[in-house]
Amino acid sequence: MNLLQKSAFAEVNEKVQQAGHLLNLKPGVIQALSSCEREVVISIPLRKGDDVEVLTGYRVQHSSARGPRKGGIRFHQDVDLDEVRALASLMTWKTALIDVPFGGAKGGVAVDASKLSLIEKEEIIRRWTRSLVHVLGHHRDIPAPDLGTDARTMAWLMDEYHRLEGFQPACVTGKPVELFGAPGREEATGRGVAQIAAATLEKDDVKVKGATVVIQGFGNVGRYAALVCQELGMKVIALSDVSGGIIDKKGIDVESIFMHKSLEHVQSEERIGAADVLELKCDVLIPAALGGVINENNWKRIQASYIVEGANQPISIEADTQLRAQGVVIVPDILANAGGVMGSYFEWTQNIQEFSWPIEKFRKELDTRMEKAFDTVHKTSKKYSVDLRTAAFLVSVERVAKAFEMRGSLV
Ligand code: GLU
Repeated sequence: MNLLQKSAFAEVNEKVQQAGHLLNLKPGVIQALSSCEREVVISIPLRKGDDVEVLTGYRVQHSSARGPRKGGIRFHQDVDLDEVRALASLMTWKTALIDVPFGGAKGGVAVDASKLSLIEKEEIIRRWTRSLVHVLGHHRDIPAPDLGTDARTMAWLMDEYHRLEGFQPACVTGKPVELFGAPGREEATGRGVAQIAAATLEKDDVKVKGATVVIQGFGNVGRYAALVCQELGMKVIALSDVSGGIIDKKGIDVESIFMHKSLEHVQSEERIGAADVLELKCDVLIPAALGGVINENNWKRIQASYIVEGANQPISIEADTQLRAQGVVIVPDILANAGGVMGSYFEWTQNIQEFSWPIEKFRKELDTRMEKAFDTVHKTSKKYSVDLRTAAFLVSVERVAKAFEMRGSLV
């Protein structure tokens, strides 16, 4: 980060404070909503031969005003306290925006997940769970997957939690379907991204069928977003992951490459650099990997008409302002990728009820509720004459502030 760049948490708080002022909230309430309730930093000694390597782990609980804290765990070498605070705060706004009874939290471990063996990964998540069990639980704080973690990681977390606290499958979401997971949860984030992209085009009377889509990221979010975009009739013309990108102007057959772990060995006539994919001309650009990928260095070269944020915080505030000034419509992360935590909510309720839904019910419920959130944001942006991100924060900050004040949390 250079000195002129804002920290990730400061960027989120800029939006919280802007919404707070527009809503005429009391200064103390704005300050409370810009702070995290609890931050726990742990050290995780990882066996390395006959020595240990000590990793740093985090759980930041931003808000419990609207319910138990909720949010994923990220394994990535760039994880630090500021990033985890920013992501925890985003979870508060995301869960409020889609109106599920959760607050916000986030966890992480600063480690390169791609270099870990399965055994190391298991050792890390079990240690993380043991060190944090006192702040976790199905009515306290419920983790889920994020970058570098997956259903398998959540199964180990659940197993460790059960050893310590007894049976409670709702203590974590995003689990394997064979182990109290919900059919539909894995695809939920990407599905929501694609649905929101289609809804945005429709609102602007742009034809969904044949609309060109570029997706940066081929992890869980990117690959399902690509699949569902194709199902909805859009044309996915480029995809990328860390190994590079593939282009097919006629439309990539997403289904045929879906099972590939990486794009490295996928046959394609045209290839492109991993980051260059962001600069391709298209109707819809979906950044679905890391944060900060669209910034002051590359915003001038972005040629998309719409950007739908599959990742959390993929656009810096400065780039966001510049791109909007040029007429680019940006659908914010807390709306666009909220399908994941919406799906987590369905999994959590099913676990608590010890009842399971068929995938058709899961999908229908997800689509209906995402559509409703989209409509609310759209109407708010018209009412206040503001962009979609500001509108999304207005809706969620108002909901959290009301809950916070009604609880009497000030005393
Ligand atoms: N990690 C996902 C997110 O950033 C999902 C969180 C959850 O399901 O709790 O939204």
